[in-house]
Amino acid sequence: MKTCHYCSSNSLICKGKRGLIQRYYCKSCHKYQQDMYRYRLYDPKDDKMIKLYHCEGLGIRSISRILGYSSNTIMRRILFLGFSVTKPAYLESNQIYEVDELCTYVGRNHSSHHKWIIYAINRSTKTVVDVAIGSRSRDNIGKVIGTIKSLNPRKIITDKLPVYVNLIQPIKHDTHRYSNNHIERGNLTLRTHIKRLFRKTICYSKNLNMLKASILLYLDHRNWKLDAL
Ligand SMILES: [Zn+2]
Repeated sequence: MKTCHYCSSNSLICKGKRGLIQRYYCKSCHKYQQDMYRYRLYDPKDDKMIKLYHCEGLGIRSISRILGYSSNTIMRRILFLGFSVTKPAYLESNQIYEVDELCTYVGRNHSSHHKWIIYAINRSTKTVVDVAIGSRSRDNIGKVIGTIKSLNPRKIITDKLPVYVNLIQPIKHDTHRYSNNHIERGNLTLRTHIKRLFRKTICYSKNLNMLKASILLYLDHRNWKLDAL
């Protein structure tokens, strides 16, 4: 006679199957269980490993295969860990900042599904000051520029996107060629370290929240610095 894992009673009945594996239902504690499970139970100590693998260019299914958890568990943890990241407070002033947008997509690679990672770095420390993910709208770009303006910048360097001119106005604005080289190098770092930003692969984001969580998790792992390692 089978006994329940949870309450040790003998009131288990067969109820449903997952593939070929029989599931049991306990009539006294009302819980479902099975003899064998394909994936192991999640151990929060592995948060560290998920974070490390995620930030070293491994995709969700690679992490799932290495750690023996289901891909759904990995996705849930990345979402949870990503959204529990807090941005550090900056107390600098009179610095030079570079702002740029990096294009990616959610769902399918078509101009209607394009999303942009808009972020700003301090030119001398390579620290990411703020990041906004979504459309390349005035609102999203304005958020990043607003954060920089609150730090009393000396100069802001951007590409030649017209929306910047109005947003930056009283502050010195530079759009010269090669002047935003540091942040363009940062884009390459992001593209090599985060699997969903790789080009010419079949790995991509299906959900905007997942994209946001993975970028925040990566920045937290690097202590919000995009310097060469
Ligand atoms: Zn039970």
